[in-house]
Amino acid sequence: MSASRNFTIIGGGQSGLQLACGLLDAGHRVRVVQNRTAEEIAAGRVLSSQCMFDTALQNERDLGLAFWDDTCPTVDSIDFSVPMPDGTPAKAISWNGLLDKPALSVDQRVKIPRWMEEFTRRGGELVIHDAGIADLEAYAGASDLVIVAAGKGEIAKLFERDATRSPFDKPQRALALTYVTGMTPRPGHSAVNFNLIPGVGEYFNFPALTTTGACDIMVFEGIPGGPMDCWKDATTPEQHLEVSKTILKTFLPWEAERCADIALTDDNGRLAGAFAPTVRKPVGRLPSGAIVLGLADAVCLNDPITGQGSNNASKAAKVYLDAILEHGDKAFDEAFMVETFETYWAYAQFVVGWTNALLMPPPPHVLNIFGAAQAIPVLAKRIANGFDDPTDFFPWLAVPEEADAYLARLAA
Ligand SMILES: Cc1cc2nc3c(=O)[nH]c(=O)nc-3n(C[C@H](O)[C@H](O)[C@H](O)COP(=O)(O)OP(=O)(O)OC[C@H]3O[C@@H](n4cnc5c(N)ncnc54)[C@H](O)[C@@H]3O)c2cc1C
Repeated sequence: MSASRNFTIIGGGQSGLQLACGLLDAGHRVRVVQNRTAEEIAAGRVLSSQCMFDTALQNERDLGLAFWDDTCPTVDSIDFSVPMPDGTPAKAISWNGLLDKPALSVDQRVKIPRWMEEFTRRGGELVIHDAGIADLEAYAGASDLVIVAAGKGEIAKLFERDATRSPFDKPQRALALTYVTGMTPRPGHSAVNFNLIPGVGEYFNFPALTTTGACDIMVFEGIPGGPMDCWKDATTPEQHLEVSKTILKTFLPWEAERCADIALTDDNGRLAGAFAPTVRKPVGRLPSGAIVLGLADAVCLNDPITGQGSNNASKAAKVYLDAILEHGDKAFDEAFMVETFETYWAYAQFVVGWTNALLMPPPPHVLNIFGAAQAIPVLAKRIANGFDDPTDFFPWLAVPEEADAYLARLAA
């Protein structure tokens, strides 16, 4: 084992705290700089819908960070629906695929404060501070490696946008979250109930654990300028809930039915916003010439349409932890940083490719596949489990000829 080294991580979210705890367990000294206290996070707005699949959850379990396996409601399947194109209140496509292992969504207002406490308990140094460039300079001077895991924080702009890996320069969806109680469970097992409304956007919901106990999370993804891009005037909790219900009544009556008696979990159980999916170069250069390494959303930010961000953050943190531990006593130079990110990118490129593809109108071969899954349960199951490992979608979902060939094989 190498000697104890000194790490500073800017941002104590999913990836930062997971990596930090892993480094502490390996005997290193770790400082996490976080711009909000645990109390502020717990009492603040919801941050995400954070549905995580088994591989990402296992990374947390391996580090002793899975505190909610017995209390968080499970998500057991993916349910996919497309409404009739003529507006008839019925489904044109509908299938359900069971997950091999359940997914879980633990409100980050629950998870992050608990992980901050755990990080300190394991001997980490938690600094509550909104880090700027001058702070990074100081930390770079005092640490063997500085990692920026600041998510969508401004500081991530330190990393140059990678235009070759970022096809969009504007938000592709108007996003909203509504955390509720009182939603009627779907019949049978629980699910991510994913509804694709062509030309309008997507809506999905699933059970989760929030600050007050079990809840359901409603996620709205409206195409900009379309009828689901409608959150501007919903400034109060009551208005936010009303807009959520109106969208369902207008486009998805089967979902509206389940929501007759819903209420917000709390006044902060709601969020609306938009951001452009962006991949950045992993090495950030400070004015002094010192370099820092970007992690997770700070350098690889996806639209939530495929529910992959927290999963990616967990997987990236694991790749970085393994790379750091394997690096021994050597210097964390630019080559190390680039190689570590590229190891992660070898996986993440598929998530980014799939997520960005879903933001575009679906091409015929994808519609064929999603339609065929209705009659082919093995296909529905494969698509569902692709959320845990999106590399499995390639090439058969991405390349038209491969899609046709795969469907022909399934039919035979
Ligand atoms: C609407 C919505 C729905 C989503 N749904 C899902 C989903 O269902 N499944 C899924 O897997 N992912 C989902 N995500 C994405 C997921 O939440 C993120 O990808 C994930 O949290 C990223 O982890 P991270 O560690 O990169 O950043 P974060 O978890 O965002 O952590 C970054 C931390 O850094 C702090 N910080 C920022 N700037 C500074 C600074 N200058 N100094 C100090 N601290 C700083 C922040 O306060 C924050 O605590 C969703 C996101 C959104 C917006």
